[in-house]
Amino acid sequence: MFFRKSSRRVFWLAAVLALILVAALGVARSRGGERIAQVPFSDLLQQLDRGAVAEVVVDGDALNFRLTDGRAYRTMAPANYVTANAAFVPELAKKKVRFDVRTSSDQTAYSYGALALGLAFMGLIGFTLFRVTSGRIPALESKTREADAHASTVTFDDVAGVDEAKEEVKEIVDFLREPGRFSAIGGRIPKGVLLVGPPGTGKTLLAKSIAGEAKAPFLFASGSDFVEMYAGVGASRIRKLFRDARRHPSCIIFVDELDAVGRSRGGNSLSHEEREQTLNQLLVEMDGFAPNQGVVVIAATNRPDILDPALLRPGRFDRQVTVGAPDVKGREQILRIHAKRVALDAEVNLRQIARGTPGFSGAELANLVNEAALFAVRCGRQIVTDVDFDRARDKVLMGAERKSLSMSEHERITCAYHESGHAIVAALLPHADPLHKVTIIPRGRALGVTMQLPEGDRHTHTREFLEAQIAILMGGRIAEELFLRQMTSGAGNDIERATDIARRMVCEFGMSAALGPLAYRTPGNPWETDKGAGISEATAHRVDEEVHDLVMRGYETARQMIAKNRAAVSAMAEELLLVESLDAEAIKAVIAKSSSVPSN
Ligand code: ADP
Ligand code: MG
Ligand code: ZN
Repeated sequence: MFFRKSSRRVFWLAAVLALILVAALGVARSRGGERIAQVPFSDLLQQLDRGAVAEVVVDGDALNFRLTDGRAYRTMAPANYVTANAAFVPELAKKKVRFDVRTSSDQTAYSYGALALGLAFMGLIGFTLFRVTSGRIPALESKTREADAHASTVTFDDVAGVDEAKEEVKEIVDFLREPGRFSAIGGRIPKGVLLVGPPGTGKTLLAKSIAGEAKAPFLFASGSDFVEMYAGVGASRIRKLFRDARRHPSCIIFVDELDAVGRSRGGNSLSHEEREQTLNQLLVEMDGFAPNQGVVVIAATNRPDILDPALLRPGRFDRQVTVGAPDVKGREQILRIHAKRVALDAEVNLRQIARGTPGFSGAELANLVNEAALFAVRCGRQIVTDVDFDRARDKVLMGAERKSLSMSEHERITCAYHESGHAIVAALLPHADPLHKVTIIPRGRALGVTMQLPEGDRHTHTREFLEAQIAILMGGRIAEELFLRQMTSGAGNDIERATDIARRMVCEFGMSAALGPLAYRTPGNPWETDKGAGISEATAHRVDEEVHDLVMRGYETARQMIAKNRAAVSAMAEELLLVESLDAEAIKAVIAKSSSVPSN
């Protein structure tokens, strides 16, 4: 495969060089042609009459002639002059002019060359297309890589926080190591296992660790490898993948990002027909081998809800393994795995860090350790300290600081009041998560950030929590209105998020008293599956009203709270303008100084 790639590169290089060469030749030729003076045809006739011409060379319709004194000229004859004018050549002979014809001048050689090259290119493109569409280029047909059991260095020890998932896939590893023992006791191994979980929880990593643990051949493929422009390519790649797999007595096929091929059929996107073919082929192949034949298909997805139901039927991906977000213990283990690669200061407490990172996925934790190490390096230190982890967490949570972004003084003031508005509402509402930080240093795409951090892991949200969240999001806009008498586009994202929460409360969580515990499918809630009640126009109208009411109630809660605590909001804004960032302690201090209401 490597050879194929490099030889193709050499070919393109040669082709480009050839083109440049031909172009250069053309330029050189036209330059060379300039050296011979071009004269009117009548000049040639005159010189012939005078008997001053020594030589004529016919070159298509061009005539090169040399005079007896040695000077050379070039002229264009009327079309077909030489052939049509029968008297011309005998006249030259009579005058003892040396006469010659150059049938294939280098001009024509040049154009023949270009033509040949063009044809060769077109042929090549056609041929490649043909081979791609008929799936005959192995390198393109199947992008799967056969992982050498010894080459995969990832083992179960590298995956943490997903113990149940590990337990379930361990069974498959055992089966692949000793297929005989399993069938002897009548055990049935599932044909297909689907790893389901949010992004970054370690699904791909888990699959790689299976490859590392099982001494069986392992075929990797990604769903996106099968999604191609040309009809039939995806299906033929699936066929090839399973053909390869069947060559081994036992083996694992891993299809990452299954949703890329496995979306439910019947969309109206352009590539939809191709995808349907590919999916059908996958279903056919999975039906085509017997349960204990030794082929196990493992797939991963973070969108099980959009998968075609046919994929989940018995005999296909009938076993689902959840790879969830890690809990506090899992986070600590994951941090330990990734911290092995860096030198930690003695007082860094990974358990503490795990506690302070609720909701972080494995990938985010790996990123956290990496960012902390980078901060340490930037400070010229060899060991990573608590401070680095703090800064890394803020970066992962809120995006990188953009100190270079210059804000006008008015923008800074707006931002300070806006964030203070969020913060006061968050600090005073009883059901909100505690504040972590308020800052007017631009981070990521935001000019300022108010960050809350839950105390423990959260798996569900109460209605009160969601209502508080809407009120907090409204706080920024309200502070701007009350203190600066202005509305800015800066609140756009807050409004969007608040509306989204309200809509989900009504349409998904059944939290609206008027509409009850039903799932509503509305245009604003474009689920890709057919879940939920299709609704009438009248109901859609009521959904809109409920969403509107929820947001407006949050707005009113926040408005009253800010109006009652004007002193605290302006004190916080002034403080922010001075120091730019306030942590939880500082926020409490500011509020305690200027507010009669105790903060939670
Ligand atoms: P997914 O496929 O679920 O989106 P990945 O397996 O690609 O997630 O995870 C990306 C990276 O994050 C991994 O390479 C690993 O470094 C880290 N990671 C994620 N989950 C875990 C975990 N459970 N244990 C250890 N590291 C993890
Ligand atoms: Mg993945
Ligand atoms: Zn805001």
